[in-house]
Amino acid sequence: MKILTFDIEEWFHVLDYEDTADERSWNKFEFRIENNLARILNSLKKNNQSATFFCLGWIAQKFPHLVKMIDQMGFEIGTHSNLHTLAYKQTKIQFREDLVKSIENIENLTNKKVKYYRAPGFSVNESNKWVFDELIRQNIEIDCSIFPATRAHGGFKSFPSNFPAIISSNEGLIKELPINTFNLINNRIIFSGGGYFRLFPYPIIKKLIDKSDYVMTYFHPRDFDPNQPIIRELPLFRKFKSYVGLSKSFHKFEKLISDFNFIDIKEANKKIPWQDSKVIKI
Ligand SMILES: [Zn+2]
Repeated sequence: MKILTFDIEEWFHVLDYEDTADERSWNKFEFRIENNLARILNSLKKNNQSATFFCLGWIAQKFPHLVKMIDQMGFEIGTHSNLHTLAYKQTKIQFREDLVKSIENIENLTNKKVKYYRAPGFSVNESNKWVFDELIRQNIEIDCSIFPATRAHGGFKSFPSNFPAIISSNEGLIKELPINTFNLINNRIIFSGGGYFRLFPYPIIKKLIDKSDYVMTYFHPRDFDPNQPIIRELPLFRKFKSYVGLSKSFHKFEKLISDFNFIDIKEANKKIPWQDSKVIKI
């Protein structure tokens, strides 16, 4: 099972940079989402692929026609929060308010229930497991925020599954579709999205996908945009991860979607034998 997902945000929604962190500064930046998103959507249609789009509520409010276009082209939409704030930096109340706002902004455009969530920067870890209670309270059915490896932000290294699982929290049960990993000498290696996808040579990625029973990808429009403004002040490692391989990444992505058949979360949900899945008490 290979699941295709995108986090729909702008080039300036990178983390680790104070000047782009505040929503009030966003209107002064160049917007690039429109062309970048159109290129992705056209390519998916051309290759007859399904995908799920985790949209920021802010994007839904600022560019309603883009979110409507995703919906009208037959792709499903989840939420990626409203303002792209790292969840572990929020209080429960702040998290709840932001989540509710994002759901409202998206549902107002699509008239469809938002059922899926992915945290900005995969920012659900051992310290903020209460996020699952909040998601269940807002009727989110499937979470995709677990990055079961070490990561600059978030990363839930001790999460005991890199396959679909059911999380049991105080409020009830929620399905989890974590990022998949490849185990190499006791380390979980990520290869299916973001900087990792841009960094690894395509033949290696293809081989790893061939060997995997479960693949959860994650891409951003900026992952394929070599002309985006470069934030020179980013910390060195972050800068490398944000901008490595940009010039060839869209070509690589097109190879990926011509070599493999992907499904969206709705289809994955139908195919996964949930009754046999691990239940993880959080
Ligand atoms: Zn994001």
